[in-house]
Amino acid sequence: AGEGILRRQAQRESAARTYARSLPVVPVRARGMTVEGADGRRYLDCLSGAGALALGHNHPVVLEAIRAVLDSGAPLQVLDLATPVKDAFTTALFETLPAELAEHGRIQFCGPAGTDAVEAAVKLARIATGRGGLLAFSGAYHGMTAGALAATGDVAVRSAAGDPDARVTRLPYPYDYRCPFGVGGDRGAELSARWIAQSLDDPKSGVLPSAAMLVEAVQGEGGVIPAPDSWLRRMREITAARGIPLIVDEVQTGVGRTGTFWAVERSGIVPDVMVLSKAIGGSLPLAVIVYREDLDVWRPGAHAGTFRGNQLAMAAGTATLRFVRQHGLHERAETLGNRLMSRLRGLAAHQACIGDVRGRGLMIGVELVDSSAEPDDFGTLPNAPRLAARVQQEALRRGLIVELGGRHASVVRLLPPLTITDEQVEAVFDRLADAIEAAQV
Ligand code: PMP
Repeated sequence: AGEGILRRQAQRESAARTYARSLPVVPVRARGMTVEGADGRRYLDCLSGAGALALGHNHPVVLEAIRAVLDSGAPLQVLDLATPVKDAFTTALFETLPAELAEHGRIQFCGPAGTDAVEAAVKLARIATGRGGLLAFSGAYHGMTAGALAATGDVAVRSAAGDPDARVTRLPYPYDYRCPFGVGGDRGAELSARWIAQSLDDPKSGVLPSAAMLVEAVQGEGGVIPAPDSWLRRMREITAARGIPLIVDEVQTGVGRTGTFWAVERSGIVPDVMVLSKAIGGSLPLAVIVYREDLDVWRPGAHAGTFRGNQLAMAAGTATLRFVRQHGLHERAETLGNRLMSRLRGLAAHQACIGDVRGRGLMIGVELVDSSAEPDDFGTLPNAPRLAARVQQEALRRGLIVELGGRHASVVRLLPPLTITDEQVEAVFDRLADAIEAAQV
């Protein structure tokens, strides 16, 4: 049955399809971290709906919340009307926010996808500041609609849509393993921050007057690159000093994934706008922005969308937010993520093709390199995208679903659910280690 489905969908679906190409699995059942294919094979899922499944597949509290809405007879589609389900979601979400936003913040429901929320954030900043430019970073990923795509760093992805780039100034993101300034750590972060501050202040630098700086605290699609806390604090200072709203895109990092409930908590910065999606909908489509109240300068109707009122997603999201908080799953993500990273670093010590292991909590990247090549002046080896693709296939053969990312698709990304068990951590490590070994012969 699985083969037939794969063949028919390959004939009918768009040439732009992605996961279905590299991960030819036909999922028919799923629970927690385990996905069962039509062929009866079981997989450990480290993709988690592209990071959307904080509690894994079909968590009982999520299913229960969805059933409760269905059984209550509540309308499923409510545009942006106020409802008890929305009230509960908003309350649960605000309880998790940094204090300043929890007390004085506003929320805008944006639609089903992360990219919708990015559009809303940038639009709001443009209206509030009257400025058109946008500061975004190398390696960034913010989405596929034109504005979000313009902020996305991947040139290949961007150029597929012509050139939506005109108003974006691309700044270097701190990336220690392949650092733009040749020095990593806090010193590299400081150099990068100074360079950014000088570019903003230099009238000849060509940087347009900026409506906002848009940044990920940990780049996800860009190759799982955590920004140093000191650098994030400098971005906060630099933007605050120049009256530029700081928008932090927590679409992928949010809801406990990186070891704190929101990734910004580690550095202690409070963004002017937070962009939230993926896990906040408990596996169903939901995207919002939360922002400082004085930015709330929309005219009524200035931002709309038919599917802003997905009650099932809000209920699933409320259950997820509460469960993560009640069970301290962000702390668990930190502990298990550190354990998995330390096992992977141990492996890197005798696998020369592992250039770098990095991440925060359960957002982990393993950067694969060509160990047969000559290192560059900084001792860094070239990317190994073909090896990464083989590792992905070998992992799948061993019952492990992983995604690739990074500027050259040479980073194996691990985004397991926060409910991963200790045994599953070991199984993920064992299967990935075997896959890396097998991919090299
Ligand atoms: N921002 C970030 C940081 C993301 O990782 C993603 C999706 N990978 C998006 C925005 C876009 O979200 P969506 O695919 O739901 O439009």
